[in-house]
This record gives sequence, structure tokens and C-alpha cells, in this order.
Amino acid sequence: MTLRFAFDNSYARLPERFFARLDPTPVRAPRLLALNEALARELGLDPAALARPEGVEVLAGNRVPEGAEPLAQAYAGHQFGGWVPQLGDGRAILLGEVIDSHRRRRDIQLKGAGRTPFSRGGDGRAWLGPVLREYLVSEAMAAMGIPTTRALAAVATGETVWRETAFPGAVLVRVASSHVRVGTFQYFAARGDIEALRLLTGHVIARHYPEASGAIGLLTEVVARQAELVAAWMSVGFIHGVMNTDNMSVAGETIDYGPCAFMDGYDPGKVFSSIDSFGRYAYDRQPGIAAWNLAQLASCLLPLIAEEETGGDIDRAIAEATEVVHRFGPLWRAAWLRRFGAKLGIEAREEDAALVEELLGLMARAQADFTNAFRALAEGREAVELGHIEGLADWQARWRARLAAEGVDEAAARARMRAASPAIIPRNHRVEEVIQAALGGDLAPFERLARALRAPSDPAPEFDDLRRAPAPGEEVRQTFC
Ligand code: AMP
Ligand code: MG
Ligand code: MG
Repeated sequence: MTLRFAFDNSYARLPERFFARLDPTPVRAPRLLALNEALARELGLDPAALARPEGVEVLAGNRVPEGAEPLAQAYAGHQFGGWVPQLGDGRAILLGEVIDSHRRRRDIQLKGAGRTPFSRGGDGRAWLGPVLREYLVSEAMAAMGIPTTRALAAVATGETVWRETAFPGAVLVRVASSHVRVGTFQYFAARGDIEALRLLTGHVIARHYPEASGAIGLLTEVVARQAELVAAWMSVGFIHGVMNTDNMSVAGETIDYGPCAFMDGYDPGKVFSSIDSFGRYAYDRQPGIAAWNLAQLASCLLPLIAEEETGGDIDRAIAEATEVVHRFGPLWRAAWLRRFGAKLGIEAREEDAALVEELLGLMARAQADFTNAFRALAEGREAVELGHIEGLADWQARWRARLAAEGVDEAAARARMRAASPAIIPRNHRVEEVIQAALGGDLAPFERLARALRAPSDPAPEFDDLRRAPAPGEEVRQTFC
């Protein structure tokens, strides 16, 4: 087979003010680091053709494939709550969209593809570390069934990227159901460009929410997706780290893996990001921040809601949009309870929230490892592994009683619990370890971790070492963009 992308580029058909058209900047010596063969096939691409020199040139941005219409998207955003009227793809270039084997439209984007009109002071490039991190973490999320952008490939550029020191450059080939963000709406709302808002809303509805009617319908869907997404993150101890409005996808996928991390020891106020000085994006602040971001989306949509729903009455439009944004809290809470209930083997009702919260309270006090504590419950090893947690025996008695009330036996419950509580997550110290090895030219640890993360809930015994929590000296406490 040859290298053929069946492009159908709907975003490129929007008006020119939505983006800047430009080709990726070629790199010196492209070399394939990782290729996601299963995802390639899903996209109708031949992995063998992608791995050949011509394919690697496409993945690196040195060759623009037939049918691509490369562009950098315009967007704005609130970064740490501060308004920035123009951000945009400063180092990412969208090649185009393909319809995959499930008839879903998917963006193919090169991240680290060179400077664009939106680069501001940046160099347009990415280095090996964050590229491998995003590859591992986004693919782990996908394997856990959590909506996310995907990683099709990682390519070394043969160039040097300067951060605090010199690093080898790399490009990540990212796949998303779209790259439209809350910040894309903000970009046009801030310019008073109602026509663009109307077109963007139509684009997003056609693409993601064909059942939704109008701007209020779109808002309703995005609120519901984000409530599910944040609950899913929290159920696996994930901290996004940069929930700026430009990093929130209106398709409800996890996007922008910068300083993200999975918690080791459970601490509800946990922050990893080196630039999150005030803990705005701490683990337990994620639902509140998601609601804040959704309120920004709602306010962008007000002119359309007024026009479509309230005969131009802006006060009534505000009331309607507010009501929709306020649904986030209960939706998130219900999703949170369902997910943490599943981790305990129960179909949780509101009165079960206390059982979940008490366990989390015990875990926080003991700084129990989040992943391993839940996994021990799922595997029936809590007596051995969690014996040190003060108060656990009492809690366990209440949990057993609750399971009995549900009428399921513990063995059946535990099978479902294993599915809800992954054994293998991309722990920070492991990710750092594989990046260090890759910097030294050894990709084997990266490949092994990637392989282990494909089955996070059913780990092969050969990966037992990857389940261990970091020893005190091994723990990574800070992550960087
Ligand atoms: P992020 O913090 O990753 O969401 O990025 C915020 C903004 O900075 C986006 O507009 C990015 O495209 C841009 N950006 C990040 N890194 C670079 C870079 N190395 N060169 C140019 N733009 C960048
Ligand atoms: Mg971003
Ligand atoms: Mg980023």
C-alpha cells in the first residue's frame, strides 16, 4: 500500500479569519521514534507506509501530503484566569481531517511544526521529553476509556531546541475529534464577530452534536461532556494542570498534556505544575474550574442564544445560559459518584457518597497511594496492603455490608472494580525515567511503558514493577510545561 490520506477538511472551508494557512517548517533529520499502528489503521492509513522515509517526512512536516490544507487555528483564552485576546496555534499545524473507519471525523495535527503567525515569542518547536510524555499519557487515557486526543506518532527532528538548556527536538502527531476550544469561541466573541460565532457554532454542532439545536443546545452538550470528563479524570487521580480556556476542548476530550500528572499519594489539594503557584488547577479544584470555563463559553454564546431563543432579550438569554451552566455541578457530582461507586463495586446512590468520602478521608490522612489503594480493594488485598490505614477495618465492615445490601458477591463486584481502577498508570517518576533513557538514545523503556499502558486494568505479571508507588526519593513533585 502507498501513503494516502483521505482528507476532507471542513475547518479549512471556514472563513480565512479562522486560521492562518501555512506549511510546517521542514526539519533537518526526521527519524521515527514511535508509531501508533492501531490508530493509523483506524484512520485508514498504512502503518508500513508511514514508517518508510516518505511517511516519516510527512509526520515530521517535511512533506505535505496530497489533499492536506495545512493551517494554524486562531483562538484566545483565559490563562490562569487572565484574559489573553490572541493565542492561537503557536507551534501546531493542522494538516487536515480524515473520516476514520468508524465514520468519525478526526483532525491530524503536527505539534512542534515550526513558527506560525500565532507564535508570539515562541520558537514553534517541542522537545523530546514533552512529546514522549504526551504520547504515553494520552494513549494511557485512551486505554482507560477516558476521552482524549490521541498520539499517532512521535518523530525526532535532528534539531536542537533550547529551553533552560539544549534538548533534542521532536514533533508529536496528534489526532483529535477536533481542536475547537472554548478559547476559539472567545476569540470571536471578544471581537464582536457574531457571524463567525454563528459559523463556528454550526461547525461544532455538525461535527460533534448533530442532535443539538442551536447555541443553547451546544452549551448543554458541552456542559454534560465536561462533567463526565472531569469526573473520569478524578476517578483515576489525574490532574490536568493547565485548565486554561484555550485548553478545554468543546468536544469533551482531554487536550494539552503539559504539566499534567497522576497523583501517587492521595492529596485532594495536590498540584504538580511548576507554574501553578496559587494551586488554581489543584486536583479538587478541577470541577469548579471546569464550571468557570463553561461560564466563559456561555457568555460567548449569549448573542446567539438571544437571537435564537429569546427574541433578542439578553436578560432572558443570560437566565437560560446560567441555568445550563448550573447543571454542571449536579452532573459532575452524579458522574463522580457513579465512577467512585464503581471503584467500590456498587451502583452508588446519593446516600453512598459518605462511604466514598470516608474512604478518601482515610486515604488522605494516611497519604495512601491513590491507584494502589483502590486496586488493592479491587483485588481483595486490602488487608495486606492497606492494613496501615487507620480506621480502615471499620470502613471495610460498612463497605461489606453495603455490598451485601446490593446482593452481589464480592468476587463479582471485584471484577467490575478492576475495570474501574487501573493497576498501571503513567506515574511521573516512570515517565521521567523513560525520558531520561530516551535522551541517552535508549527508547526501550519508553516502548515497554507504552506497551504496559495499553492494558491498564489487566496488567501482565511482567509489568509488576510498573505498579509500584515511587519510593520517597523517587517521587516527582513538580512538572513543567
Ligand atoms: P499551552 O500552555 O500549551 O496551552 O500554550 C499556550 C500558547 O502558547 C498557545 O498559543 C501555544 O501555541 C503557545 N506555545 C506554547 N509553546 C510554544 C512554542 N514553543 N512556540 C510557539 N508557541 C508556543
Ligand atoms: Mg494549549
Ligand atoms: Mg501545551
